[in-house]
Parts: sequence; C-alpha cells; structure tokens
Amino acid sequence: MIKLYVLYAGDIICKDVSQLNEGSLQSGEMALANPIFLIQHPKGSVMWDAGLSDNLINQKEGMDAWIFHLTMSKTVISQLESIGVHPSDVDYFAFSHIHNDHTGNANYFKSAKLIMQEKEYDIAFSPNKRPFNYDDYKELENSEVIKLNGDYDLFGDGTVQFIATPGHTEGHQSLLLKLENTGALLISGDIAYYKENYQNKGIPTFNASKKDSLASIEKIKKMVANNNAQLWIQHDKENFETLKICPNYYD
Ligand SMILES: [Zn+2]
Repeated sequence: MIKLYVLYAGDIICKDVSQLNEGSLQSGEMALANPIFLIQHPKGSVMWDAGLSDNLINQKEGMDAWIFHLTMSKTVISQLESIGVHPSDVDYFAFSHIHNDHTGNANYFKSAKLIMQEKEYDIAFSPNKRPFNYDDYKELENSEVIKLNGDYDLFGDGTVQFIATPGHTEGHQSLLLKLENTGALLISGDIAYYKENYQNKGIPTFNASKKDSLASIEKIKKMVANNNAQLWIQHDKENFETLKICPNYYD
C-alpha cells in the first residue's frame, strides 16, 4: 500500500498578487500555502520538495524575500520524526524546481538519490548560473542523481510519475501519483500559484518562459482529465486547508 504524507513547510504572503498573474487587475496581498510531500512506496520512499528552511522558525517575524513574506511555525524535521522517519531513511528526493520556497531543507536529504530534470540540474549546480539559495541544497552536489529529459515513471508501475512541466523555471516538473483509495492525484508544483491562475492561464511575470508555461498548463489539464485526477496546486491555500496533514496520510 502506498502512503502519501502532506507536510507543512512554511507560510507565504505574496504582497503583490499582480506579479503572480500577468495582465491581472487584481492587486494587494494573497496568503499562499507551501506544503511538501513524502510518498512511501513498497520499493522506496520519495520526498517531493524541501519547503522553506526549518531555521526560519527562529525568526519570529519571519523574513522578506522580494514580494514574499516567509514564516515557519512548525519544522519539517519534527513532522518527519512524528512518523518515525529520519531524512537519511529517504530513498529518493525530487525538486519541483529550485526556487527558495522549495529548497529550504534539501540538505537533509543528501543521502537520497536526487531526481531532477536535467535543465534544472544544470542551472542548480552551475557555478555561473546557480541561484542565491544554492547553500540550501549544495550538499546534494555529490548525491547520486537521475537526470530527466521529460516524463519518468519511477517504479515502472505508474504510481509515481514525474511530469516535465517547464515554464516557471526551465526544468520545472510536476508529480502524478496513483493511490489505491484516493485515486489519481496531480501535485502541480508551481505551474500556477492558485486556482484562478490555473483556470485563466495567468502567468507570473517572473516565469522563465511564457510559451512553455502555457504549454505546461495545457499538458497538465489533459493529464488531469485523462487520469480523472485531483489537482493539488501546491501554493493554493484554499486547497491546502482541505488536506490531511502529517501524521495523517492518504493511501
Ligand atoms: Zn513556489
């Protein structure tokens, strides 16, 4: 039986929602969720994203990062502990992409096999191109890695599939899961920030490619329909508030 745990990994306030949706007349603040996920499959465990850094819990007022205000009220490590998981137990670690709200605790998972789209990997570890948050994940530089150039069925049984969805970043990916009781579930990463964003194809102003972003939204819409899947937009606070959080799980 495959289990899926949803872990809280920080709170985000976007102080200028117009930046999340090019051409939008909406302005002002929007609260965003920031969950990460642990999948326990009989053939291995998979961690999806690393959230904001647990260290942020020591900054009571949180911190500003560009248009975002970031806070942390519960650590990732404490949630893993609550279900008896140590980061070194995790077999595979994957980033949707390497923005800092997804990389915070990545160094915990240095002993896992890293799964990334090759384009994202090349930017992440290039001395000339790597982002300011490189320290968050630099210990993964020596990890064994599976570099992807497209979609990938990790265990060959269709239950854990990595879906290439470039646009937000050059090597962004999403995750398609098939659970026995819950059914198909698409965890979309940041192809959109919230539901209206996805429905109206509002592309964030800071995406790497608008064309690829639109194509990825189309790809995910088809995949959601073909698999009769639930769609979980990671940053969508409204969706997050309906989810069971670790130590509860989906199966
Ligand atoms: Zn994000």
